[in-house]
Amino acid sequence: MTNGSDRRHFIKLGLVGTAAMVAGCSTGNGDHPNDPDEVKGTKPISPGKGPIILSTWDHGMAANAKAFDVLQAGGSVLDAVEQGVMVTESDFSNRSVGLGGLPDRDGIVTLDACIQDHNGKAGSVAFVQRFEHPISIARAVMERTPHVMLAGAGAERWAEENGFARRDLPMAEDARKSWEEWKAKNPLIQAAGDSARVNVENQRMGGKDNHDTIGMIALDANGQLAGSCTTSGLAFKIHGRVGDSPIIGAGLFVDGDVGAACATGTGELMIKIAGSHTVVELMRQGLAPEDACREAVERILRKNPGMTGQQVGFLALRADGAYGGYSLYNGFNFALNTATENKLIDAAFAKKWE
Ligand code: ASP
Repeated sequence: MTNGSDRRHFIKLGLVGTAAMVAGCSTGNGDHPNDPDEVKGTKPISPGKGPIILSTWDHGMAANAKAFDVLQAGGSVLDAVEQGVMVTESDFSNRSVGLGGLPDRDGIVTLDACIQDHNGKAGSVAFVQRFEHPISIARAVMERTPHVMLAGAGAERWAEENGFARRDLPMAEDARKSWEEWKAKNPLIQAAGDSARVNVENQRMGGKDNHDTIGMIALDANGQLAGSCTTSGLAFKIHGRVGDSPIIGAGLFVDGDVGAACATGTGELMIKIAGSHTVVELMRQGLAPEDACREAVERILRKNPGMTGQQVGFLALRADGAYGGYSLYNGFNFALNTATENKLIDAAFAKKWE
């Protein structure tokens, strides 16, 4: 799906072999620009056509609505992507984002989040417990420290020192039940520490009660891009496991000159191909957003022959407002919010669940 998809407005890397690589992709476009004027640098070449807000899964509808209001009220696109996903983090009935998320193997909810602005500044927290808004801690890491990423106990201590209050939430009854059932069904897997196999089952079940990170990417009316990503990670993961969602380049990547991308699904697969960065770089080389997402999914497939049952999905938003999404399996949807539209879209996909 594209919106204003004139790829000729897009910059090409002047790298030897780039054109050959793009032409060789199964989903590549034969008509990517090769005008020498467009093969020079990384300046923005087209005015933005925002506001356009995209976010993963149906919980994205409420998050997008908030982000849109923030933009309408004169907030920055960074404010919008932060406050948008805070809605999802505060929805304690959500079992895949925030403190209401399903716990890890040990019954502990651990949270990951990151944020990135138009100029590539970034902040991130991983493996943090008992904070309602990891996305805001991630933003504070970006704005108040020389670092990009803080993790675990150190991140928690820094957050408290910087005014973020701990929040203790008892595990919801249904979450506890799911965890108890998982433990009862999987004593061996649990003992072996192989929660990945169980997560395949979770992914199969689909839907937002299992594992559906919120990633949000947005473009404002001034052509500024930003993105955010926040999650409780895969259900019943090994304690200490961190997925793609707080990793800049894996769960989220923003380059104001080109576009933004975010990811959901099995984080290990995304990390191994630096998924969101890959999508943005493919757009830089001239692929339309949906094609860039598809190529990233196909790369995951090529690198993992024989793999079945793991969902991955990407969203991409180009600097001129073109957008798209693509997933490995059917069932991935995303929310779109513009001045004229506010809807849920089923992403294109490679395979159907059997
Ligand atoms: N990507 C997340 C993770 O691996 C989970 C998800 O999006 O479903 O932690």
